[in-house]
Amino acid sequence: MAYKFRIYPNEEQKILLAKHFGSCRFVWNYFLNQRKEYYINNKEDIEAKRIKGCLNYYDNSKDLTKLKKQDGFQWLNECNAQSLQATLKHLDSSYKMFFRKTHQFPKFKNKNNKQSFTIPQFFKLENNKIYFPKFKNGIKVKEHKKLDGKFVVATISKNCNNQYYVSIIVEKEVKTLDNLQKAIGIDLGIKDFATCSNGVVYENIKPLKRKIKKLKYLQRQLSKSNKFSGIRKKRQLKLAKYHLKISNIRKDYLHKITNQISNENQIICLEDLAVSNMIKNHKLAQAISDVSWHEFKRQLEYKCKWKGRQLVIIDRFFPSSRMCDVCGTINQSLTLKDREWTCDNCETTHNRDLLASRNILRQGLNIAAGMVVKSEGSCCQ
Ligand SMILES: [Zn+2]
Repeated sequence: MAYKFRIYPNEEQKILLAKHFGSCRFVWNYFLNQRKEYYINNKEDIEAKRIKGCLNYYDNSKDLTKLKKQDGFQWLNECNAQSLQATLKHLDSSYKMFFRKTHQFPKFKNKNNKQSFTIPQFFKLENNKIYFPKFKNGIKVKEHKKLDGKFVVATISKNCNNQYYVSIIVEKEVKTLDNLQKAIGIDLGIKDFATCSNGVVYENIKPLKRKIKKLKYLQRQLSKSNKFSGIRKKRQLKLAKYHLKISNIRKDYLHKITNQISNENQIICLEDLAVSNMIKNHKLAQAISDVSWHEFKRQLEYKCKWKGRQLVIIDRFFPSSRMCDVCGTINQSLTLKDREWTCDNCETTHNRDLLASRNILRQGLNIAAGMVVKSEGSCCQ
């Protein structure tokens, strides 16, 4: 459901709103132009399918980050960064709708038309004011209706008569079916196997650790043995059996976890697992984790189908462990080693894995509600 209210910014706020309208329009036009030029300059390569046919949201997003640091463009930092990102997402979905032949090719925006920008997160209505990033004092709202439900996204607009509005999309509480409207976000890791948004942590199982030691030993034995000897064959067989044994222990353990999670939750949100592409890691523990993650996802997929649950996969570029879920600040300097971090902006201290699982949950619910434009990596099953 969408609700629209008139808002009454003061003179100072009007100036800052104008900057938001202008910056979002600039970002739209700049990246629309960049996408067009990309096509014109690479036409041959695109038609021969040597390179992709179109820049996507992630290309644009990376360039925007660079652009904001360049001389002459730093004014872009005066605006809520999330609104600029939302503009890129709109541009991306406009392109997709054009390719699906449901909409016309996106047009450049003109400052004489209706102006608007989106606030994807971190806004609230309180005491007849709307609060959102960069507008700490709140803008006066004429609230003609009390809203109940979860706020999903807000859009601020100004029409040709210089009147300002906010429209808010509200998600109504889903009616409870059988006490199973629970949702969970899961962060998979190497230290702990899985951390869940409800605070449950599934450890990596210890018997496996000991067995990995023996596995390494068997592998060494095998590599030492003579290529054509009988003993080599024996050792090969022994190693294969041991692999199977480990694999079964691991599967049993994963079944226990996936049973519990799929029994207790209706919506299950998980991050995409293409992690091994990004981290080149030759350690055995990592390899085992990799295999376990894929097995875990496989089990969840079919169990969710059986039980009529919804599995939402979040794409792996989502900054789940780096985004403060209190104020939305992104910690750019977080390394893999940091288990905890404190937000520069609101000074909240986060446990990395728990934060990730909560962010995954929220993002998953947004995707499930159809409120986030899905990028290539995301899917909803
Ligand atoms: Zn914060």
